[in-house]
Amino acid sequence: MKAAIGIDIGGTKIAIGVVDENGKILSDTQFPTEVELGPDNAMKQIISHVSEMREKHKEIAGIGIGCPGPIDTKKGIVVNPPNLKTWHDYPVVQEIESAFQMPVRLLNDADAAALGEYFFTYRHTYLHVLYLTVSTGIGGGIIINGRLYEGASSGAGEIGHSVIEPNGPLCGCGKRGCLEALASGTALTRIWKQRLANAGSPIEPTWGGKELFAQAESGDSLANEVIEESSEYIALGLSQTIQTLNPELLILGGGVVIGQPEFYKKIRKKLSFYLLNPHKQALQIERASHGAMAGVKGAAASILENS
Ligand SMILES: [Zn+2]
Repeated sequence: MKAAIGIDIGGTKIAIGVVDENGKILSDTQFPTEVELGPDNAMKQIISHVSEMREKHKEIAGIGIGCPGPIDTKKGIVVNPPNLKTWHDYPVVQEIESAFQMPVRLLNDADAAALGEYFFTYRHTYLHVLYLTVSTGIGGGIIINGRLYEGASSGAGEIGHSVIEPNGPLCGCGKRGCLEALASGTALTRIWKQRLANAGSPIEPTWGGKELFAQAESGDSLANEVIEESSEYIALGLSQTIQTLNPELLILGGGVVIGQPEFYKKIRKKLSFYLLNPHKQALQIERASHGAMAGVKGAAASILENS
């Protein structure tokens, strides 16, 4: 059976795995990115781990790389991601191609996760799929006619940076009121703590999303208000993309959606108010099922889908 190597480069860690056509991980490893030491340091470790994996698995068809944006997937360059501050115009594809002489493909990390979820679970069932992940940030990916759609500058599916509130909170991208600044896991905690402070209520510095959802469940009205609002924002952001693409399947993933079933249900319910009937009737909604390895699997799938 054919297999490919997937590399998932993140701000804190790099995960690498050998993945077969059924999505089974045959071998995997992970290590800290150590952003402060620069890309050459990380690349040395990537090359050493990939070499070992190639020795062990002779059926490898190529190497896919998922990386936070902005990146240039056509030129194979990591441009200047905020999560990888020392990686400027880094030719990641060229580095790996020259070390291994095999097909190498670079894609945006949310696109990789979208492709991982799609390719290994739904490629025989659906052609048009929208994927959204809600974790520390909000990212999306689009599959059209069974293929990942990347757009003109590798930025298709950036639903997290749709402006939902024109004068809303400042987003990491520099704009105001992006969905990510209103409804990501990070935003939820920040907004909740702000409101507690405004109400003069006590706040524990260690409180995060887990405490927010626990308080909401115990009936706290402020916590419930924050969760109601953010699920509404996510539904609103999603509905605009769904009206545009008319997908057959929406996959919702990321720590906040997977870890909080009530939050997932709220998004589903609110979404149904915003969609036209034909879009609603054509749409299935599922939760992501590949967890933290979706990025590695999707990076590998970017090779497997072409080989
Ligand atoms: Zn933004």
